[in-house]
Amino acid sequence: MSGNMKGMADLLREGATMLSRSCPECGTPLFQLKSGDIVCANCKRKVVIVPEGEEATAEAGLRLESVEKDIVEKLVKLGQLMSQESDPEAIRAHSELMDSLLGNLERLRANRTV
Ligand SMILES: [Zn+2]
Repeated sequence: MSGNMKGMADLLREGATMLSRSCPECGTPLFQLKSGDIVCANCKRKVVIVPEGEEATAEAGLRLESVEKDIVEKLVKLGQLMSQESDPEAIRAHSELMDSLLGNLERLRANRTV
């Protein structure tokens, strides 16, 4: 049994889990320790990797923010239009639109804090 294999067996015994990612240095599967650290059993060192899906999440966050910005801008414009409006029908239509925009905004913000 090689030294690498013993290292892996030891890691597994300590409760580490084998990841689908491999070491960028040597290609050996990486292990995640109970502490959350990711190590290479072959190189015997900690490896810092970008967790899968993290970049995608950050991108989605950016998209949500720009959608949110659009909604806020429309709300501001609607508010200005409404203050100049004297026709009750137009005011009602504007306020309905504002309600639905506010609903969208609340949903966006609720999703983000989860
Ligand atoms: Zn390695």
